[in-house]
Amino acid sequence: MSILSWIDSENAENAKLLEEGGLWTRCYHCGAVLYIKHLKENHHVCFACHSHLQMTSRERLQSLIDPGTWQPFDETLSAVDPLNFYDQKSYISRLKDAQHQTGLQDSVLTGTGLLEGIPIALGIMDFNFMGGSMGSVVGEKLTRLIEYATREGLLLIIVCASGGARMHEGILSLMQMAKISAALNVYQNHAHLMYIAVLTSPTTGGVTASFAMLGDLIIAEPNALIGFAGRRVIEQTLQEKLPENFQTAEYLLEHGLLDLIISREFLKPAIYEIIYFYKEAPLKTKGIIPKNFFQSLNLLTEEKIRRQFNNKIQLKTGLDSINFPELTISQNIFKKLNLNLSLLNFSEKKTDVAEPQRGDPNEKELQLKKLADFNKKIFKSFNQFYNF
Ligand SMILES: [Zn+2]
Ligand SMILES: [Zn+2]
Repeated sequence: MSILSWIDSENAENAKLLEEGGLWTRCYHCGAVLYIKHLKENHHVCFACHSHLQMTSRERLQSLIDPGTWQPFDETLSAVDPLNFYDQKSYISRLKDAQHQTGLQDSVLTGTGLLEGIPIALGIMDFNFMGGSMGSVVGEKLTRLIEYATREGLLLIIVCASGGARMHEGILSLMQMAKISAALNVYQNHAHLMYIAVLTSPTTGGVTASFAMLGDLIIAEPNALIGFAGRRVIEQTLQEKLPENFQTAEYLLEHGLLDLIISREFLKPAIYEIIYFYKEAPLKTKGIIPKNFFQSLNLLTEEKIRRQFNNKIQLKTGLDSINFPELTISQNIFKKLNLNLSLLNFSEKKTDVAEPQRGDPNEKELQLKKLADFNKKIFKSFNQFYNF
């Protein structure tokens, strides 16, 4: 092998490494070549120009949450394709590609963990998964996270990175904006808890227009692109030249849309100090959670409750013997699942034999039979779905 061909092959190798996201990468801003290992240690901040480069949700998780304390929620939730959406590729195959590339189910991670020993509820969006777009899974996961934080009285932090609503799911994506905002309304205005939004580059579209701008405190990363519509759209609509730094975090801070710009390496200590500061704040009004605030259930938990309920009817035991460690069983849950609680009043009947039976005994039997039929139907569809 000649020297020249050796250099050629080495170059090809290097190019391959760069393409595969191997050892080296380039700063998109100043073009400096960066060693990925060192870049990761520096929270993906460019050594040459201090640009904040793209970070995955898992890396953010590591930089924010104390090691070993993360408890993820709804990891298996993934999207369906209600519209049979198709552009150059079908939505389903796009989803599968993204899931394969990122190892994520959808573009948000939610869960609880400790931040410098303080328990928090945390959601982190991932721009690498279909541009961090918000579909029904993102909406559902964030809503469940907010509802959990409301019930448990946890501080909520959502790290935003998104191109906006996911067009592949149409109106189902758009309604997530209202859904998340409604959950946040209960969290902030009824339970009186604090929500910190952290905006990273880019935060645009439906995410900006809903939960990103609803933070009690809104923190952004330096030079982050934050906006609703794109620059070109606005310029064409207004027929006007926009300022150079338009839609950057600094511009928005100057115009009062943000509270703070914090460099990535100081984000965790800064949030810790903010929480500590607010803990000492003198103004404290007690929050109330509305009565009809349902506990969110996933399909599997719903089904488990249905089966337990069914067993109770067959074994003729009362409600008090329902044992479900993950949940505090409330009447609301049964209401939500359309289960008739009056069918579970067996314990009274069993212990108090002398009490005269109210109503026609046949009627109760008929009711039981109806419920059994109804349950059978549910089980049938459910079993087909999961191939039990
Ligand atoms: Zn630069
Ligand atoms: Zn740079």
